[in-house]
Amino acid sequence: KARKRFGQNFLHDQHVIGKIVKAISPKPTDCLVEIGPGMGALTEPLLETSGKLDVVELDRDLIPILRTKFFNYPDFRIHEGDALKFDFNTILEPGQRLRIVGNLPYNISTPLIFHFLSHHKMVQDMHFMLQKEVVERLGAVPGNGDYGRLSIMAQYYCKVEPLFIVGPGAFNPPPKVESAIVRMEPYEELPFPAKDHKVLERVVREAFSMRRKTIRNTLKNLIDAATLESIGIDTGLRPENLTLEQYVTIADKVAELLKESSDEA
Ligand code: SAM
Repeated sequence: KARKRFGQNFLHDQHVIGKIVKAISPKPTDCLVEIGPGMGALTEPLLETSGKLDVVELDRDLIPILRTKFFNYPDFRIHEGDALKFDFNTILEPGQRLRIVGNLPYNISTPLIFHFLSHHKMVQDMHFMLQKEVVERLGAVPGNGDYGRLSIMAQYYCKVEPLFIVGPGAFNPPPKVESAIVRMEPYEELPFPAKDHKVLERVVREAFSMRRKTIRNTLKNLIDAATLESIGIDTGLRPENLTLEQYVTIADKVAELLKESSDEA
């Protein structure tokens, strides 16, 4: 029986499962890892195509089921535990990067995405089944109501591609919301690298702390309006109207100001 506290909605629609596996196109040489395999709906076709797979599953009652089901795959490894605490370095082979797959429990999807963004160097790509709204936020462009901290940080590190929508009927039990598949591919060279990505994160967090206010107001504790204007930012704009590149410009200036004030101290 599905457990609510683990966010368990098991995929059963073979057409949808086939589409996901085709989008991933796993190869035997990939370092493929699935988060939250559940009863193995995706695990099975992934293993069939790649022959090699690591899975991280939190619900200990599912471990023996997975073990029995896939006992004849020597390169199938089960890791019991929380994906947020799992050390993915332990499954990485030298010179390889992870290909991550997961029909994620929706309550951990955002923290998990931020977790992988901060470990982007070890990731080749990620394919996630998420709540449709989260995929819309990940892929949102400036000016769109969904555009915010998640869009900017995801697009700072990754090429984000929303792939297709999956209705509730594909799952058992059906979730209350629509879902969607997204592909995220970390850039090897960031298109708009910030001098200090922690400062970028801070600027973006502050900027969106009050959506309805202008950037001049939301950022006033970090940078004053005149300085913003001096680097070409229209301070009358709202946070959702600034591009990633503009946030990087602001973050670089803030990093400079922070450095000056720490040098003076
Ligand atoms: N992949 C399966 C499928 O498509 O049928 C199951 C999907 S279900 C939405 C999410 C799975 O993630 C469950 O098996 C659940 O036990 C597991 N899970 C929940 N929280 C987890 C965590 N923090 N780390 C790893 N797995 C987790």
